[in-house]
Amino acid sequence: MSKRSNSFIDINTLVRKNILTMRPYASARDEFKGEADVYLDANENPYPTSYNRYPDPLQWKVKEKLAVLKGVKPTQIFLGNGSDEPIDLLMRAFCEPNQDSILITEPTYGMYAVCAEVNAVNIQQVLLTPDFDIDLDAFPKTFDASTKIIFLCSPNNPTGNVLSHDKIIQVLKRFYGIVVIDEAYIDFSKGKSFVQELAKYSNLVVLQTFSKAWGLAGLRLGMAFASEEIIHILNKIKYPYNINTQTQRIIADALDNNSQKETWVEEIVAEREKLAKALKKISIVDKVYPSDANFLLVRVKDAHQTYTHLTDQKIIVRDRSKVTLCYNSLRITVGTAQENERLIEALNQL
Ligand code: PMP
Repeated sequence: MSKRSNSFIDINTLVRKNILTMRPYASARDEFKGEADVYLDANENPYPTSYNRYPDPLQWKVKEKLAVLKGVKPTQIFLGNGSDEPIDLLMRAFCEPNQDSILITEPTYGMYAVCAEVNAVNIQQVLLTPDFDIDLDAFPKTFDASTKIIFLCSPNNPTGNVLSHDKIIQVLKRFYGIVVIDEAYIDFSKGKSFVQELAKYSNLVVLQTFSKAWGLAGLRLGMAFASEEIIHILNKIKYPYNINTQTQRIIADALDNNSQKETWVEEIVAEREKLAKALKKISIVDKVYPSDANFLLVRVKDAHQTYTHLTDQKIIVRDRSKVTLCYNSLRITVGTAQENERLIEALNQL
């Protein structure tokens, strides 16, 4: 990996030139901020339907609550339509199509590669080690001057483990580009979030989501935490009203009452450990990988046969056996105690 002299990177040197110089769309709600009696500025229908007004384009109420919870400034938060939105926007902001590259560590979450393909961004791949950690020696052989973003997923999907904290720090310190740490599953992990490291690294982006521990996948809300410079760029290129009114209301309420989330996390983590133990006793199970997430990667004797048997029993898991390093492996989400028992019963029939 190429050496950098210090940990501060001027983000504007990394942004695509056209994005840096473009003038963003100014919505009606951007131009006038504050409370008024008569709104005749946004071509809305004046008759109240609960949704006749456009939502706050920058979702300040949600961000103010989230900022307190995460220990960052509201201006260090970007909210997207799932965390898939910032994954896509980061590529559009920092990677010149048909020229620049992202680096991903395989096996990992599939959307990094899909977004890269859509945006005509080259994909450089480094294999994780056999125990699914970062292979620091392999990095320098893979990336070059075209590499603009490194995506690290921790806890990693589909393997479930956290990546080594020290190795991530090494990447952050040495790479002159954006380092994205996708923490979609961090609530289920004992590992420390990198949100706390934001003050030290101007090139760090941490992704989290309301889709997992918060139980709100259907609302579609993802978070990106980063330096104000990076957040400013993402806000500049997003759709003006990317988070709808209902989502903003429900998330603001959920943030006022996060004890429910904490209870779910405790239950899911306890169920994960119970499920792992039960799976290890089943004859067709070869290996249950350690997990810091709300799912288990499980290697079986014959993934296809097991998957088909479970589907026949109306139990759906994810067959990951075609994924790099995941030979004959199924990814099983931790369900309720009853659901997990049904899974174990069905597997015992094999
Ligand atoms: N990152 C990872 C690692 C994921 O597994 C997922 C969803 N499966 C996401 C991001 C996207 O989550 P969402 O768009 O629902 O926030």
